[in-house]
Amino acid sequence: LSAKEQEVVDKIEEEGVDFLRLQFTDILGTVKNVSVPARQAEKAFTEGIYFDGSSIEGFVRIQESDMRLKPDPETFAILPWRKKEDSAAARLICDVINTSTGEPFEGDPRYILKKTLKRAEEMGYTVNAAPEPEFFLFEEDEDGRATTKTNDAGGYFDLAPKDLAQDVRRDIIYGLESMGFEIEASHHEVAQGQHEINFTYDDALATADNVGTFRTVVRAIAAQHDLHATFMPKPIARINGSGMHTHISLFDEDGNNAFHDDDDEFNLSETAHSFLAGILEHAPAITAISNPTVNSYKRLVPGYEAPVYIAWSDRNRSALIRKPAARVPAASRIEARFPDPSCNAYLAFAALIHAGLEGIENDLEAPDPVRENIYDFDEEKREEYGIETLPTNLGEAVDALEEDEVIYGALGEHIGPKFVEAKKSEFEDYIIEVSQWELDRYLETF
Ligand code: GLN
Ligand code: MG
Ligand code: MG
Ligand code: MG
Repeated sequence: LSAKEQEVVDKIEEEGVDFLRLQFTDILGTVKNVSVPARQAEKAFTEGIYFDGSSIEGFVRIQESDMRLKPDPETFAILPWRKKEDSAAARLICDVINTSTGEPFEGDPRYILKKTLKRAEEMGYTVNAAPEPEFFLFEEDEDGRATTKTNDAGGYFDLAPKDLAQDVRRDIIYGLESMGFEIEASHHEVAQGQHEINFTYDDALATADNVGTFRTVVRAIAAQHDLHATFMPKPIARINGSGMHTHISLFDEDGNNAFHDDDDEFNLSETAHSFLAGILEHAPAITAISNPTVNSYKRLVPGYEAPVYIAWSDRNRSALIRKPAARVPAASRIEARFPDPSCNAYLAFAALIHAGLEGIENDLEAPDPVRENIYDFDEEKREEYGIETLPTNLGEAVDALEEDEVIYGALGEHIGPKFVEAKKSEFEDYIIEVSQWELDRYLETF
């Protein structure tokens, strides 16, 4: 065992951990787990744990289905909601290994992000990322099923005390902190029942791991309060949806922020300008990955603080990318505002980072920032500024993905086709559906 692995084994003993949840994510970003008795920890580290990959979304064909999970000791954490007096459950995030080759499995999203970060490393950079996942808290009905009745403000007839959400948020924060999160801020978001909890940036891999953990913790602790937490991008029409703004910066080999330049008007280096230009160039294809559901596109409409147009800004929030004010050079970064929390963070970060690195490699130049509210522009003005529009639905986004070699390639040979196939079928399924809106509008009119 490595020193870190031994440390985990000791910790398991000390804390009386009886079960280990070995976690990984499928292509769609759902966290899966295999539970093993904690005494198997050593074996899990040395030999790995075998599982049948054929039953996991998009993983493998039946005839080559044996996969091995290799736990990453850096990701050990005790689960806050399973803590009993004398025993606890813990999780380890795993890499997925192909048993026939002994190599990392190409269908593992975590591996796709690792490959991306390797490309960055070869160019001399480490990548930092910080997401801002937003979510709604909804009440449950008598049967414990999720409703779309928000637990505060909007629920005018609620008898619940007004600070109910604050209690839930506090418990969520305690849970996250006990799992090693450093929480920076938490606040009620713009919409009724909508919340945001911010955690400190980390390297992009740890951050993608954190996104999965964050969603799990938020949902589990909300459920303890009889509430349903959802990261669905737009659960209620005509009010703000939930985004997952993603802040990114590159650090060089000396540990300096490669995105910072004192002399630049926006304090952004040429590297940062090229990186953001790369994201702007590949935005339509990235959207398929960062905004991967039919519902994602109900959020990307004008008027709700979510981006619609492909432009960047140092001020206004209608742009796709914003340059947030930075107090110190180390904090210079860009904020991609289009991703939403229904995405697979490993793949979304991989797509964003590949696009940015491509921008750097090709010395792309960023256009001028747009300082006005782009929602107010008409088509003519957008044309004058050369501003393109994001895909307006999942179908268009997937088409853009298929046509973009850089972003499609970023997903690798296994995930690329599987992702496109899954999303095309999801979109077709949606297209043939008849919605309540149509019935309300047409049933009695025609
Ligand atoms: N909820 C908005 C979105 O969809 C963001 C609001 C905010 O954080 N200012 O992206
Ligand atoms: Mg925020
Ligand atoms: Mg927010
Ligand atoms: Mg933000």
